[in-house]
Amino acid sequence: MFKQMEAARLESLHIAQDEKTGLRGIIAIHSTRRGPALGGCRFLSYPNEQAALQDAIRLAQGMSYKAALAGLELGGGKSVILRPAHVDDRAALFEAFGRFIDSLDGRYITAMDSGTSSEDMDCIAQYTQHVTSTTRAGDPSPHTALGVFAGLRATAAARFGSDDLDGLRVAIQGLGHVGYALAEHLQAAGAELFVSDIDAGKVQLAVEQLGARAVASEALLSTPCDILAPCGLGGVLDRSTVAKLRCGAIAGAANNQLANPEMGDELDARGILYAPDYVINAGGLIYVALTHQGRNSGEITAQLSHISQRLTEIYAEAQAHKRSPARVADSLAERLVFAD
Ligand code: NAD
Repeated sequence: MFKQMEAARLESLHIAQDEKTGLRGIIAIHSTRRGPALGGCRFLSYPNEQAALQDAIRLAQGMSYKAALAGLELGGGKSVILRPAHVDDRAALFEAFGRFIDSLDGRYITAMDSGTSSEDMDCIAQYTQHVTSTTRAGDPSPHTALGVFAGLRATAAARFGSDDLDGLRVAIQGLGHVGYALAEHLQAAGAELFVSDIDAGKVQLAVEQLGARAVASEALLSTPCDILAPCGLGGVLDRSTVAKLRCGAIAGAANNQLANPEMGDELDARGILYAPDYVINAGGLIYVALTHQGRNSGEITAQLSHISQRLTEIYAEAQAHKRSPARVADSLAERLVFAD
C-alpha cells in the first residue's frame, strides 16, 4: 500500500467501515497543497479491495492535476465506496459516508461520480458541508460542454490557424449529457457534425434537431473529419484505433481517452493535435468547485475561459519543445501541484 502511495505521491489515505449500513469506503487525498482535495465519490462493485484502492489513488492524482491546470485553489482527492451485493438502505449508507467525510475536517470535498447521484450527495450533505453536486447545486455537464466547446476552438486555432468553426467537420462519439450539449454549440457555430451513440434514439434526435450525419459506432473513430470529439467512454485511443484515425485533432470530454501515455506520443508523431482530456473537460469541476465556494455565474464563466488559455499555452510549449501536449500537460501539472 505504501509503495502505491509513494508512486502516486499521495498525501494520505483514509479507510472506514460501518457494520450497521455496510459502508466500506476509501478516501484518497493526493494533495492539499493548493487547497482542499476535491474529487468525486464512486459507488461500484470492484473485483477486490486492491482494485478499489488502486482506482481511488489513480483518480485522486488525476484530480490534483486537473484542478491545478484549471487554475483552481484546490487539491485533488477521490473516494470509493465498495458496492455491497445488497444495499438495504442506500440513504443510510451515504449518510454514514457523510460522517466519515466530516471527520476529515474539510480536507476532502466530495462530488457525484460513477455510480452516485445528486440524491446520494443530498444524503451526505445531512452530515457534512464538504459536499458538492447536490440536487440544489445542479448538473455540471452543461459547463463541461461549454469548456470543451471553448477548448475545441483553441484546438482548431492551433491546428488549422483559425478558431472559426464554420464548415469544420467534427465527429462526436457519444451524445450523452456532455456530447449532446457540445453538438448544440457546434451546430450553432456552423460546424458540420458526424455523430454516433450506442443509443439510436440520441443519434436520431441529433439528426433531426441539429442536421447531424449519423455514423455507425464502429466507424466513428475512423471517419474523415477535422476534429474528433470523444465524449463517451475512456480508453478509446489505443494502438489499433490510433492507427485508423483520419482527423487533424482530437478534442473531447471523455476521461482517460489515452489507453496509455505512449498513445499521446503516437498521436503527435501522426501530426494529430491532442487536447489533454483533463484540461479540456475541466468545466464541470470548475462549476462544482466555484458553486461550492459561493461564487457567482460571472466568476464561473471567467474561470471557464482558463481552459482555452491553458490549452493554447500547452500547445505552444509542445511545439517549442517538440513534446506531445499530453506530456507537456502532465509536466506542467506536476510543477504546479508540487511547487514550493
Ligand atoms: P453520459 O453517460 O451522459 O454519456 C455518454 C454517452 O456515450 C451515452 O449516450 C452512451 O450511450 C454513449 N456511448 C457509450 N459508449 C459508446 C460508444 N462505444 N460509441 C458511441 N457512444 C457511446 O456521460 P457524460 O456525462 O456525457 O460524460 C461523457 C464523458 O465525459 C465521460 O467519459 C465522462 O467521464 C466525461 N466527463 C463528464 C463530465 C460531466 O460533467 N458530465 C465532466 C468531465 C468528464
